[in-house]
Amino acid sequence: MDPSKIPQIPLNSGTKIPQFGLGVYQISSDSECEKACLEAFKQGYRHIDTAHIYGNEKGVGSAIKKSGIPRNEFFITTKLWINDFGEGKSIKEIDEMLKRLNTDYIDLLLLHWPKNDYIGAYKDMEKAFEKGKVKSIGLSNFHDDSLKKILDICKIKPSINQIELHPYAQRKDVVEDCKKNDIKIEAWYPIGHGNKDLINNPVFSKLGKKYNKTNAQIILRWHIQEGYIIFPRSTNPKHIKENIEIFDFNLSDEEMEEIRKLDRKTQYVNW
Ligand code: NAD
Repeated sequence: MDPSKIPQIPLNSGTKIPQFGLGVYQISSDSECEKACLEAFKQGYRHIDTAHIYGNEKGVGSAIKKSGIPRNEFFITTKLWINDFGEGKSIKEIDEMLKRLNTDYIDLLLLHWPKNDYIGAYKDMEKAFEKGKVKSIGLSNFHDDSLKKILDICKIKPSINQIELHPYAQRKDVVEDCKKNDIKIEAWYPIGHGNKDLINNPVFSKLGKKYNKTNAQIILRWHIQEGYIIFPRSTNPKHIKENIEIFDFNLSDEEMEEIRKLDRKTQYVNW
């Protein structure tokens, strides 16, 4: 897959993010993570979603170096963990992240969850943004009060909110609040963390037959047409290849609507 075929979504920071990438949650060793990233790069992926708590930022950094592909062709997201939140504390942690990722800048830095001193952490992300250490800043798992608090205090608006979102949890309220504030949505658990009940839903099987695609590809295509940014996770070369092959067909308006009707408003994770 030619990486230039992946749509780029403009962010309110003035940069662009590839709409599709690889998530590396639960790939707990750096070497396994490096291997999965290199496999993904071979297939045309240029966007990686990691986090301090995943324990594999070094693996992402070494995959980028080993690939021989210029740094500016990649989009790297990482997330500050809640224990590192606090004004004056988070800024030091950002320098540690840069070292682990073996890079001069992070494309997108998120606050992982709205816990502890997330206001102080946000202020430090703004400082890192001003210094050019981070190109865009954003949130993950923020909604209602926590989202409002950030919007009330921010000097630099968040570009992204990364939330659990898939056909069984479409999160319409958060999506609307973000849209009003020019915050783009990233959908984590895009295929429900591999949940079979979701993946095997007959609607996806029917559409899969029609387009000669797998059920997972139908779900991923639905996200793309909704405008969400996604990074399904896999270490399996077959799935890594399959997941990116979703840019050569279109679901119709009726089919998009049929999938919207599957919303059960039930998240798999409730913190
Ligand atoms: P996912 O929805 O991407 O599902 C991954 C599971 O599906 C794995 O078990 C994988 O083996 C399987 N799979 C992958 N491709 C498949 C295919 N084509 N057919 C069948 N099965 C397939 O769930 P995830 O990895 O938990 O989430 C994706 C990414 O979102 C993570 O890697 C991480 O980057 C991010 N995330 C963020 C948060 C957050 O709090 N911000 C939380 C969870 C995940």
